Amino acid sequence: MKQDCLFCKIVLKEVSSKIIYENKYVMAFNDINPQAPTHILIIPKIHISTLNDINKSHNQLIGELVEASSLLAKKIGVHHDGYRTVFNCNKDAGQTVFHIHLHLLAGRKLNWPPG
Ligand code: 5GP
Ligand code: ZN
Repeated sequence: MKQDCLFCKIVLKEVSSKIIYENKYVMAFNDINPQAPTHILIIPKIHISTLNDINKSHNQLIGELVEASSLLAKKIGVHHDGYRTVFNCNKDAGQTVFHIHLHLLAGRKLNWPPG
């Protein structure tokens, strides 16, 4: 856990969020500023700042994040119409919270290429 990390505080429940799913490794909660009818953030319970910090020791954890996105899409019922999962990394991608998070966006037609 990293002090002053907003998402570490969400994991510790020091900051409240609308938790959608949680297991030993990951937590999923609604984005506070949704960009689509469904906008969920899926995060590891350990602190990792950006995708640049990922190494082989995280392989299982990354699998857990991706599996959670698939489970949630099915649970919410957007799996047939479709959905998008995104990791933003650093400034050109617009990363604003430096604890990695997988965005799960769905519920409307999503533009491609993204802006
Ligand atoms: P990024 O831009 O880093 O890829 O995504 C960060 C996301 O975190 C944004 O979509 C933003 O709306 C969301 N966010 C920022 N602060 C909070 C918060 O306090 N609670 C929740 N649930 N989401 C937040
Ligand atoms: Zn953190």
